[in-house]
Amino acid sequence: MVARIYNFSPGPATLPYEVLEQSAKDMVNFQETGMGVIELSHRSKEFTAVTEQAERLLRELLEIPGNYKVLFLQGGASSQFYMIPMNFLGKGRKATYLNTGTWAKKAIKEATLFGKIDVAFSNEKENFNRVPSAGEYTVSNESEFLYFVSNNTIYGTQFHNLPKTEKMLFSDMSSDILSRRLDISRFGLIFAGAQKNLGPAGVTVVIIREDLLDRVPSDIPTMLSYKTHADKKSMFNTPPCFAIYIVGEVLKWLKNMGGIDAIARINDQKANLLYEAIDSGNYYRGHAEASSRSKMNVSFNLPSAELEQQFITEAAQKGMSGLKGHRSIGGCRASIYNAFPLEGVTKLVEFMHEFERENPA
Ligand SMILES: *Cc1c(COP(=O)(O)O)cnc(C)c1O
Repeated sequence: MVARIYNFSPGPATLPYEVLEQSAKDMVNFQETGMGVIELSHRSKEFTAVTEQAERLLRELLEIPGNYKVLFLQGGASSQFYMIPMNFLGKGRKATYLNTGTWAKKAIKEATLFGKIDVAFSNEKENFNRVPSAGEYTVSNESEFLYFVSNNTIYGTQFHNLPKTEKMLFSDMSSDILSRRLDISRFGLIFAGAQKNLGPAGVTVVIIREDLLDRVPSDIPTMLSYKTHADKKSMFNTPPCFAIYIVGEVLKWLKNMGGIDAIARINDQKANLLYEAIDSGNYYRGHAEASSRSKMNVSFNLPSAELEQQFITEAAQKGMSGLKGHRSIGGCRASIYNAFPLEGVTKLVEFMHEFERENPA
């Protein structure tokens, strides 16, 4: 095994070593075809099997009901910000959005181009340090759906319960899909850019309730219609083959790990270790309010910006990279997605204690 560092990057993020190793082999010769995996026709029987397996594993792991379609799209999670309203909010239709951070705000901006958007909650003034509780917002009756970002990657906040509403939910799960159990039947649509918890950049997974496809207008561009991709099983045009292949390998890895419940337990363990370290004194301060703390992205501050810089530099020298916080809130952030190993968290916690002892505030 090559020397690996602990990569706390928020995305693209660390992947299981087994997946990297297998994909390096398959890159040169896929299943004795004499061709690399990225040289196969997307319509070949070999590649069709790759896509079908990825979809099957995703359905199995997330227990996706039969009346949902799984799509593999391009354009990043950000393209879903406009595809959703373009497909579902034309002609003055209304939707409710919860503004819990940068990614929600960007989605709201795009949605406003197409429909009437009700922003039922925003805590931008508190620098997005929590998600709302059920009683804090109302969803109007005319709303088609309630849109929320299940994990706010930048601020390190996460919904620990699904928003309470009769309406169907639409959610950006880019940074926490497959990290915990989920009742898919509450959702009309879920999407996730792969590069955090699923695989490499380049593919966005969309899970969409089948009956919604009947509402897609026929006068929108073909490539931007969910119906196009659902009807053609994500093969209307050349899909992001390599990214889909890696997602399939990551899903195999996850299944071998014991699936969602097993990974959720490890995720709890990792997050608890870090939050305990933060709460053990006054040196480290978590950005998120305790009840909204994310199990995927742990954003925290040190007593000063200088100490934060020194912390990030010394951590990197000790083989822990990617700990710099997002430019919009500064400080530090440890992203600990499914593939991030427990030992890396233990090592970071040890370093946090050591750093505090050696650099008193
Ligand atoms: C990273 C991220 C995005 C943006 O993903 P792109 O694929 O770069 O467009 C959107 N939403 C959330 C929650 C994210 O973490």
